[in-house]
Amino acid sequence: MANFNTHLTGGFAVSAITGLIVYKAGLVNAQEFLSCVLIGTIGGLLPDIDSDNSTPIKLGFNLISLALAFALVIHWQSSLSLLSMLLLWLVGYGLMRYGVFYIFTRLTVHRGIIHSVPYMVTMALALVSINHYLLGVAAITSWFYGAFLLLGALVHLGLDEAYSVDLLNNRLKRSSGTAMKFYKHDQRFYFIGLYGILFMFITISPPFAPFWNKVSDPVTWWLLKDAMLPEVLTR
Ligand SMILES: [Zn+2]
Repeated sequence: MANFNTHLTGGFAVSAITGLIVYKAGLVNAQEFLSCVLIGTIGGLLPDIDSDNSTPIKLGFNLISLALAFALVIHWQSSLSLLSMLLLWLVGYGLMRYGVFYIFTRLTVHRGIIHSVPYMVTMALALVSINHYLLGVAAITSWFYGAFLLLGALVHLGLDEAYSVDLLNNRLKRSSGTAMKFYKHDQRFYFIGLYGILFMFITISPPFAPFWNKVSDPVTWWLLKDAMLPEVLTR
């Protein structure tokens, strides 16, 4: 298994490169680009969120809780008094840091359900819906955020999978094949529930076609190809 620093670096590097490409292709603006990189990096750490009470996980959860609390306050700042803002901040932070974290650590065993592909797809879809329906972000941008979360998470699962292979003598370690999982028989009830929630998010998520059309539009990539090298080299 890859460690925290490898996941942090891997998630960040892949998100930053992919982010730069979609930014340069004009698919996201500067601010959305930064959000995509941040979300991708968080996605790269997310599957290990239930690993144990190790400091990096706690730190990561603290940062996510802080960011969420600030996002709540910023979103409702115009309609709230200073005191209500402080209260909202405290409640948002407390709920996330202690409530959600507690549930995470209680309900899951490491490399349990959270460390799986369907869980991460569900998280990505939840992020899309939260951004679009609650925060009023455009559907296409919301899909980009979800895509980056999933990208980071898949980098994480891929890294764990790669690290379970002994590269020197090609011998497979015992943990190989358990990182990139879709289902586990002894946790079948959790997985059935998970696929149920996943299906629910698929049915309520904002339209996917505009996002897909934009990403798969050849014109976007022709323009990018033209902008790939410094002008001196393409002349
Ligand atoms: Zn992991």
